[in-house]
Amino acid sequence: MKSHPEAEVIIIGAGITGISASYYLSKNNIQHLILEKAIDVGGIWTSQKWPGIRCDTDIIKYSYSFNPFLSQQCLVSGETISNYLRATCSEHKITDKILFGTMVKKAVFDTKKKIWNVYTNKGHFSSKFIINANGYFAGAPHIPHFDGTEKFKGEITHLLHLDKKKNIKHKRVVLVGSGASAICAAPVLCANSLSMTLLQRSPSYIYEENNSIGIFVDLAQKLYRRGWVFPVKIVNYFLQLKDDLIFVLFRKFPRLGKLFFKLHWKDSIDSKMFEENFQPTYNPWEQRIPVSLGLKEIIKNKKLNIVTGKIKSFTESGILLEDGRNIEADLCVLATGYNLSLFKFEIWIDKHRVVTQDINYYKGMMLGGIPNYFQPFGASHTSWTHRIEAISKLIIKILLYMRKRKLDTVVIERKKVKNNPKITPNYVLRNLSKLPAIYGTLELPSIDNFTFHFFRKSNFKFSMSHFPKNR
Ligand SMILES: Cc1cc2nc3c(=O)[nH]c(=O)nc-3n(C[C@H](O)[C@H](O)[C@H](O)COP(=O)(O)OP(=O)(O)OC[C@H]3O[C@@H](n4cnc5c(N)ncnc54)[C@H](O)[C@@H]3O)c2cc1C
Repeated sequence: MKSHPEAEVIIIGAGITGISASYYLSKNNIQHLILEKAIDVGGIWTSQKWPGIRCDTDIIKYSYSFNPFLSQQCLVSGETISNYLRATCSEHKITDKILFGTMVKKAVFDTKKKIWNVYTNKGHFSSKFIINANGYFAGAPHIPHFDGTEKFKGEITHLLHLDKKKNIKHKRVVLVGSGASAICAAPVLCANSLSMTLLQRSPSYIYEENNSIGIFVDLAQKLYRRGWVFPVKIVNYFLQLKDDLIFVLFRKFPRLGKLFFKLHWKDSIDSKMFEENFQPTYNPWEQRIPVSLGLKEIIKNKKLNIVTGKIKSFTESGILLEDGRNIEADLCVLATGYNLSLFKFEIWIDKHRVVTQDINYYKGMMLGGIPNYFQPFGASHTSWTHRIEAISKLIIKILLYMRKRKLDTVVIERKKVKNNPKITPNYVLRNLSKLPAIYGTLELPSIDNFTFHFFRKSNFKFSMSHFPKNR
């Protein structure tokens, strides 16, 4: 097996998270390389190409603080984000550090040499530290079992596999799902098909966005173009604070949240439609809130039919619901979500494979008992990037601290902590037993990110020769 020269840090993955880590490592002259299994940067924004894919967080806060994306629209397409990430990599010389087509299969920490051995399809790599930015979605989407699919004369496909260019002009489309992806895809599929039905098992809270940036963001962007960086930072902080406040208020006072959504949809739909299709059984912000663009219009114009009901089975000509209703269809698009996979390769410490199930996940940054290993996890109710950058900076502080004192290892002790995710969409509930338990954070980036600025060494276990037995 081909062996490559040792690196100080190996980053695994060149999506939003890996790119952020590389930027801050370079800024601090920490030598590193990125192993990326794909042949391009951008992670999900490059690999997913389905109709309607876009962000649902304002791009000004989803883009990096060191390279804000200036736009007159707050939500932009997946392709735009992919291009932005590619441009960021080339502008900051990150592309040169990426070894594309390199899939990590196994990483083994050698406790004697204090070194990670990383095994890939392109040979063996080694480094002092690993930053795992391999994403959290499994490659294959979640496809539930439905009876009678073999009888159906039309086509069934998952949204992830639906080609943007597919001609659906003469098709009666049924889109199954009510999460963020379904809400992004619905207006696009609606515009291109003969007829469209959004079939949801149960309703979600949906927020309709008008996609304009507002005067403060506009002003901050204008000033940024003239070389004033600070206003964009302030605007971003306030947008973050706003997201956190809404999150806390809606969770604390669910009736207030429910009233907000009632008023939000009042002008577009009648009360019967609202009660049947827009009143979830859970409270606001217990699950991520899908953000729609143009949904109100297609509902008002009766181009979109929304149906809430459970699928009993597929028939020759469509879908039969448990309550006896029948929906005729030529194409059924499943937007039934993702499976989660936080660890895309095996992690070993010497001859022991690390059991990642139920592992404690300190601040969404380090995993219990795994030395010199970081895995940044972004925010779940707001922009992923905001917390990713804060975590990247804290990792740098730790590395520089260790370099200065010639320390070999840093670790968080493995311990039992309760897995209590604040947001519980179905894909989290389905995978709960496999997920690490995040702790040591309020999950509110406007506050958390302040604490990330202060590196308290007592929270970590550093050593030169001693190695923790408890793993
Ligand atoms: C449709 C969609 C819309 C979203 N919208 C938003 C939004 O608006 N706002 C928001 O905050 N979040 C959003 N998210 C969440 C989103 O996943 C995160 O914001 C972010 O993109 C995650 O980036 P990442 O770099 O951690 O992971 P990914 O983008 O998944 O990138 C991981 C990278 O690691 C590589 N990799 C994986 N395994 C290996 C291996 N074994 N060896 C080498 N390389 C490997 C992959 O090829 C990939 O390039 C959205 C997610 C989806 C799916």
